This record gives sequence, structure tokens and C-alpha cells, in this order.
Amino acid sequence: MANAIPEKIRMNTTLLENLAEVAKDAALLKGVLMRIQETPNSSELVTYAPFTLFPTPVPEAVFSQALAVQTHFNTLVDKISQDAEFLQDALASTIEVDDFTARLFKIHQQIVKEGKSQSVVCGLNRSDYMLDQAEDGSSSLKQIEINTIAASFGGLSSRTPDVHRHILQVAGQLEQSERILDNNPAAGLARAVAKAWELYGSEKAVVMFLVEEVQRNIFDHRYVEKELWNRNIPTMRRRIHRSGQEAICEVAVVYFRNGYMPQNYNSEKDWDARLMMERSLAVKCPDISTHLVGTKKVQQVLAKPGVLEKFFPHQPQVVEQIRATFAGLYTLDMGPEGDTTVAMALAAPDRFVLKPQREGGGNNFYGSEMCEVLQEVKDSTERTAYILMDKIHPAPVQNVLLRRDAPLQISTCLSELGVFGTYVRKGEDMVLNECVGHLLRTKSSEHSDGGVAAGVAVLDNPLLF
Ligand code: ADP
Ligand code: MG
Ligand code: MG
Repeated sequence: MANAIPEKIRMNTTLLENLAEVAKDAALLKGVLMRIQETPNSSELVTYAPFTLFPTPVPEAVFSQALAVQTHFNTLVDKISQDAEFLQDALASTIEVDDFTARLFKIHQQIVKEGKSQSVVCGLNRSDYMLDQAEDGSSSLKQIEINTIAASFGGLSSRTPDVHRHILQVAGQLEQSERILDNNPAAGLARAVAKAWELYGSEKAVVMFLVEEVQRNIFDHRYVEKELWNRNIPTMRRRIHRSGQEAICEVAVVYFRNGYMPQNYNSEKDWDARLMMERSLAVKCPDISTHLVGTKKVQQVLAKPGVLEKFFPHQPQVVEQIRATFAGLYTLDMGPEGDTTVAMALAAPDRFVLKPQREGGGNNFYGSEMCEVLQEVKDSTERTAYILMDKIHPAPVQNVLLRRDAPLQISTCLSELGVFGTYVRKGEDMVLNECVGHLLRTKSSEHSDGGVAAGVAVLDNPLLF
């Protein structure tokens, strides 16, 4: 098995312990911070955001492939968001049984009916991948999902490269230390938001961060806020139930870092607030239709033959580049195709993942649990709330996961590579379309699901080879 830990350190517990202490201090020094679980809405006590002691080896070719395809994914997301008929068809079966997606869709439909109030659109995406390992040891880039709303860790991942550089330097791995890539998604995200703000065209107008009730990950946001203030763009933070009380100040941009889970809406008032924001003149990051493009159902429909071609009719190379990253995705719609999916999953549960239309990690089903859920829903329309996906098998790597109050131990780990993409469109004109950085997250292989916020994965950096 591959090992991220340098050989001479692996066997030396004292060295490893010392290095872990150095690493935690380096994370604090560099601002890789999180509020503590006990007091998530106060910065009186903060700790380091969980991270790996060592960077994880990633093949250069697949890393470049992920960066290179990002602007095409941006274009794709944006095109779909403008295609109301496609969204309607893609989500028709889902919204019959999934109340949350249905509510979002209802807002989308109302906006389509009324016409969009703002011609500027700002997209801040993160496309996530795992490297599927073939029997010959080679690995291929497979997209797990694309996040079109509230994609996080662009801020903290701008600060982790220096932490790993320092750890490797102290560990005597100078050559590796120098190979850690620079990364600054925070600056890239802010560049897009700033462009949207500029196109809105009012110097006094603010960028409103729509934030969660529980704000442990505030420092991740603060990096983006700071980049905006550096440009003299005022920002403010509001929770959804207070988002409407800002009549006194003009909001140029609403940056959603919330609103993607059912529990983000506590009452009808919160849903009214979402509708009000969508109707407002502010530029939305993202708008409601772009939010819906990020559903797993849309991802599954895109993988059907001929669908990408519809969005890139004269660009077969782009279609090929995007499709190369798709894993097998299967419909659970009622009918013979969906029946085949059910039979296939039940016959080989370890080859697949069952996914509902949810975000934030911890919602998918695997193995025997997947079979139980499928058995329960397979004969009713309830099954259309889900999609089925090939399970990706990345190569495991030995590393140490550092998190507050956790014992120091060597774990068998799996990684997920995210790529940040931004775009700004005004009417028909794409005024900005960029790939702005990456995020490597690593978790113990015991966990099949869950991100950093869910307490499973930790921040990491790729070490290209
Ligand atoms: P979410 O929107 O909740 O983040 P994801 O599709 O990213 O949903 O799934 C959550 C986690 O589940 C991922 O971070 C990954 O660890 C795991 N996962 C999802 N899809 C697959 C897959 N096809 N193969 C292996 N693991 C997967
Ligand atoms: Mg997601
Ligand atoms: Mg995810």
C-alpha cells in the first residue's frame, strides 16, 4: 500500500508525535482554523481545522485533467441553468416524491414565469472527484458530484500548502516540501464575486453572505470576505430569517453559504426569504436554477447518451473531456430501465452507491443498508427520489489524520479531489470563466461517506508525481 509518511518516521513514534505538535502549531500560525464544536458561534475558543500530517501523492496527469475540464463544467452548469425545459424533464420524477427538491423547483418555476430580475449570474462551483484504481494500478479521474451551492473550504485550502511545506521541511523532506503546489481558491472566488458586484454597479451596495445557524467554519468564509474588503467591497453576514431585514442597505450580491439542506429552512418565513432573494435585484451566487443543476438527478441525466451533445453541439472534444470523468450513473425512474437498475444493485451491492437528492455528506447508502432501502422503495415511486452510481475505489494510502482530541494513529486513507470553478455571465456574455484552485480531502477508509464539516474527512494537499 502507498504511504504518505516518510519511511524513517513511520517506525518512530516519538518523531511522529513531535511532528504532529509542530504541525498543529503550524496550522494555527497559518490560520487553518475552526471554531470548536462546543461554542460554534463564538471565536473565543478556536482550534486547527482537521488536516493530514502529510500530503497525499496524486498522479500529475489526472490532476491536470481535473483542472483542464473545469471551465467546461462551468459552461455546462450555466447552460443547463438557462434551460428550463431540460430541468423540468430531468427533475419531473424526483419532485413528485422529494419534497425539498420540489420546493426549490417551485421557486425556480415561479422565477421562470415572472422572468429573471437580474441579468448577471455568478457561479461558484466545486467539482469533486475520486481516482478510481484499475487492476493494473493506473487510476482514472471519476466525478463524484458537482456542488453548485455553498461549496466550502476555498478559504482554508488557500492556507494549507504552507502548513505541509513546513511539516515536510521539519521532517527533512526538503525536495517534497518545495513540490507542494500553491493554491488560492479564496482569491479566485472573491474575484468572481467582485466582478458580479462591479457589474451590479453601485459602490455602496454590499455582498451579503447568507450563513448557517451554526458557524464553526466561519474562518473559511472570512478569507473570502477579506479578499473582498481588500477591494473596498463591503460584506455582511446574515442568517436566512434576518435576510429580509436589510431594506436600509442595498445588496448587490447574495453569496449562499446556506440553504442547501431541508434543515436550513426552519419555517415558511425562511422559504419566503429564499423566494424574496431570488426575486430581488441582487446577483445570486448561485441563482435557484443553478442550485438545481447541482442535484444528483441532473448528474445522472447528463450521463445518458446524447445529453452532453445537446449542450455542446459543435464541440465533440469538450463532450469527450467531460464524459471521460463520468462514472456509471443509473436511473431509478419507474419503468423497465429503473427495474434493471434495482436488480443490478441488489445483485452486487458492493459495486454501487445509492444517492438521494441531499448535500452535506452522510446521506448515501452502501452495501447491506443500500439493499434494505432498495427493498423498501423498489416497487413504489419513492425510489425515484434516488439515483444509483458506480462505487469508486481509490487506492488507499497510509497517513495520519490530525483532529482535536483524537489519538495519534496511522490510518488507511482515501482521498477526494475538488476543483473550484467560477464564472460570471451578463445576459449572453460570459465575462469570466475560470478554474481557481483545488481542495484535497482525505478520510479514513472505514468511512464510506462524509466530508470535513461532517467530521469525517480532513484537509490535505496533493503531492504530484
Ligand atoms: P454530498 O453532496 O452529500 O457531499 P457526495 O455525492 O459527495 O454527496 O457523497 C458524499 C461522500 O460519499 C463523498 O464525499 C464520498 O466520500 C462518498 N461517495 C459518494 N459517491 C461515491 C462513489 N460513487 N464511490 C465512492 N464513494 C462515494
Ligand atoms: Mg454535494
Ligand atoms: Mg460531496
